[in-house]
Amino acid sequence: MILEVIVDISNSEVDRCFDYVGDDVPLGSRVLVEFGKKRLIGFVIGKKQTSELANLKQAQYLDTPISSEQLELLYFLRKSYNLRYIDVLRLFVPAKLREERDPEFSRKYLTVDDERPLEQLVEIVGSRAQKQLEALKYLAANGGQFLNVMVAKFGVSAVNGLRDKGVVVESNVHERSTPMGTLARDKKHVILTPAQQDAVNRITDGKGVFLLHGVTGSGKTEVYECVIENMLAKGKSAIMLVPEISLTPQMLGLFRARFGDKVAILHSGLNASERYDEWKRLKTGEATIAIGARSAIFAPLENIGAIIIDEEHDTSYLSESNPRYDTKSVAEYRSALNGAVLVLGSATPDMESYLKASEGKYQLITLSERISKYSLPEMEIVDMVQEFRSGNRSMFSVALKDAIGETLERGEQAMLFLNRRGFASFIRCQECGYVAKCEDCDISLTYHKEDNELKCHYCGRRYHALTKCPNCGSDRIKQGKIGTEKVVEELKNIYPKARVLRMDNDTTTRKDSYFKILSSFAAHEADVLVGTQMIAKGHDFGNVTLVGILEADAALYFSDYRSSERTFQLITQVAGRAGRADKKGRVILQTYAPRHYVFRFGKSYDYIGFWKKEINTRMVTKFPPYTKIVRVLVTSPEEQDAVDSTRSVYKAVRDIEAASGKFVYLGAARSPVTRMNGLVRYQVMMRISNEQFPSVIGDIYAAADGFRPKKGNIFVEINPQSLI
Ligand code: ADP
Ligand code: ZN
Ligand code: ZN
Repeated sequence: MILEVIVDISNSEVDRCFDYVGDDVPLGSRVLVEFGKKRLIGFVIGKKQTSELANLKQAQYLDTPISSEQLELLYFLRKSYNLRYIDVLRLFVPAKLREERDPEFSRKYLTVDDERPLEQLVEIVGSRAQKQLEALKYLAANGGQFLNVMVAKFGVSAVNGLRDKGVVVESNVHERSTPMGTLARDKKHVILTPAQQDAVNRITDGKGVFLLHGVTGSGKTEVYECVIENMLAKGKSAIMLVPEISLTPQMLGLFRARFGDKVAILHSGLNASERYDEWKRLKTGEATIAIGARSAIFAPLENIGAIIIDEEHDTSYLSESNPRYDTKSVAEYRSALNGAVLVLGSATPDMESYLKASEGKYQLITLSERISKYSLPEMEIVDMVQEFRSGNRSMFSVALKDAIGETLERGEQAMLFLNRRGFASFIRCQECGYVAKCEDCDISLTYHKEDNELKCHYCGRRYHALTKCPNCGSDRIKQGKIGTEKVVEELKNIYPKARVLRMDNDTTTRKDSYFKILSSFAAHEADVLVGTQMIAKGHDFGNVTLVGILEADAALYFSDYRSSERTFQLITQVAGRAGRADKKGRVILQTYAPRHYVFRFGKSYDYIGFWKKEINTRMVTKFPPYTKIVRVLVTSPEEQDAVDSTRSVYKAVRDIEAASGKFVYLGAARSPVTRMNGLVRYQVMMRISNEQFPSVIGDIYAAADGFRPKKGNIFVEINPQSLI
C-alpha cells in the first residue's frame, strides 16, 4: 500500500504529501519515516495502490491519534483559513506526540521503597548526601514522581545516587497526573431557577446553535454544567471553551467538584507531559469533558453532544497568529459534524451573533435576572471635561475620590479599572473632549510616535499631528493615556493607608503571579486593586462594592470599527464585578464624552438598545457583520521585496474585483506600524460584501500564496482584531 504522508518538518513552508510504502493503516495514523537523513514523524492523510515514484521508502506505523471526524475538520480549516496541513495537524495532537516515538514508554516513575520505613532509607542514604536526602524526602512527601521531573529538580547525580542505593523503586507503570487534582471538591447544591431550567431543557432537547444572552450573575455557568450533565447521561461528550483568562482555579474547581475525573483541562499553564496526559484521557474516553481556551475546540473527543463557548464575544476566540482561525466558525462546523448543540453564552453578545439570533439563524435564550437579590450596580457617569474646567487636574474625579474613601472606611474593597489596548493611543482635547477622526472612515485616528503622525488604521490615510484643538483652539491637546503606576501613585498620595495591588502586563509576566494577585485580593490582603482589562473578567469578589472606570474612552477611541462595541462589553463586564454577593455595588465611570450613546445604554445595562443603534451604524457604514474586512499583510526584511509582493497581490486582487463586482473598499499601503521586529510591513486592505466574500476568498488566498515575498512572509487575515 502507498501511504500519502504529511511529514512534520519544523520551520518549513512545504505543504504537500510524500509517498511511502506501508501497511494498510487508517487515515490519521502517525508513522515514522525517513526524510532526507532524518527520522521524522508523519501523518497519513491518503492511501493509494500505486505511485509515480520508484524506490519508495518504508513508513513505520506508530498509532492513530487523529479521528476521521478530525480529518474532515482538517479540510474545513484548510479551505476556510488557507492553512497548511501540518499546522492543522499540530492543533490536533499534543507536542509530545510530535517529538517522541512513544511518549508512554519513555516515562519512568519513581517511588520510595515502601517495604522499609523511611528512617531506615534516610540512614542508608547517609547525612552527607544532602541533595539525595532532599530528593528522597520530596518523593516520600509526594508519593512518587516522574524520573524526568526528579532529574530536572534535583540533578542527575542525586537521582542516580538514590537508584544506586536501592532506596527508590522504578516502574514503567503509567500513572497519570491530574492537573488541579487537589482543588476543592466541595459542591454547592443549587436548585435551578425557572428561567435556568427552561434554558437547560431547550438546549438539551434542541438542535443547532443557541445564543444564551444572560446578564452577569444570571447563572449561565450553572446552565452550562446542567447541559453537560445531561449530555453525559445520554452517553455523549462535551467541550467547554472559556477565555484563557477565566480559567481560574476557582472556576476549574467548580467543574472538578461536579464532574471529578470526567473533566480534562487544557490550558497554557500545563507542561508538555500534563498536556499529553489530559489529551490521552480524552482520546481513550476516560475523560469526556474538555475544558480549555480556544484550542480545546480540537479536543480528541468522539460523539460530542454539546459545545459551549462562554463569553462568546471575547476576542481571544480569534487566533491572530499562525495558524489563524476563528474558533466560533470551527465550533459551528464541528458541532454540525457531530449533531451536537452549540451554545454561545454572553452578557454582551458579539454584534454578529445577536444579528444571527435576530434573523432566526441562532435560537435566542435570555436570562434577564440576576441570581443574587441585588440588582446590577448603579452606574454613575462623571464628565471629566467638567472636572477639568472646575479646576480638578487629578485623574480622580471628586465623586470617585469620595467613593473610594467611603469604601475604605466601611472596610470594603474597590477595583479601579484602566483600559489600555496595545501601544497605540488617540489624541484628545482636555478642554472640550474633541477627538481626531478620519474624514473618510469616521474612525478615531491613532497617534504614531515614531512618525509623529496620526493614522487611520482602516484606510491608511495620514494626518499631521495636532498642536491645537481644531474645535476650541486650546493647546491642551494630548495623548489620552494614563498608566496603572500613575494611578497607584496618586491613590497613595490621597489615601496613604490604603493597601493597593496592581495588575497589568508588567506585574504578571510570571505565569502564577496573575493568580497570586487575585487570590491575595480575594483574601482581603489589599483594599484596592488597580488593573487593566485583566481584572475585568469573571472573578467573584464578594467584598468589592466599588468599581471605578478611569479611562472609559481609551477603548472608545481606539482606531477600530468595533470600538463602541468593545467599550460597551468592557463597562458591562467591569460593572459586573461590583456587588456580586450580598452587598450592593456602585460603579463610577469617568469619561470626556458623557453623552456618547455607549455610556447612555451602558448606564442602564441596555444591551438590546445598544445593539440596535450599533448594528444600524454598521449597516450604514458598511462594516462587519455586513461586510468582511480582509487584510493581506506582507512582511519582509527588505523594502523592495515587500513592495514587489504587495504590488503583485494588489494587482491580482484588482482582477478578482473586476471579475466579481466592485468591493466596498480596496487599497494598498504601508501598515499602520511600518516596521516591527526588523521587518517592513505592507498591506492590501479590502472590505467585501458578505455576498461576494465566499466566491472571492479562495482567489485572494491563491493570490497571496502566488506572490509571497522572496525573503519575508504573507498572511491573510479576516476581520482582524488589531490592525497594527
Ligand atoms: P454568570 O456566569 O451568568 O455571570 P454565574 O453562573 O457565575 O453567573 O452565577 C452567579 C452566582 O449565582 C454564582 O455564585 C452561582 O453559584 C450562583 N447561582 C447560579 N445559579 C443559582 C441558583 N439556581 N440558585 C442559587 N445560586 C445560583
Ligand atoms: Zn478642544
Ligand atoms: Zn480612514
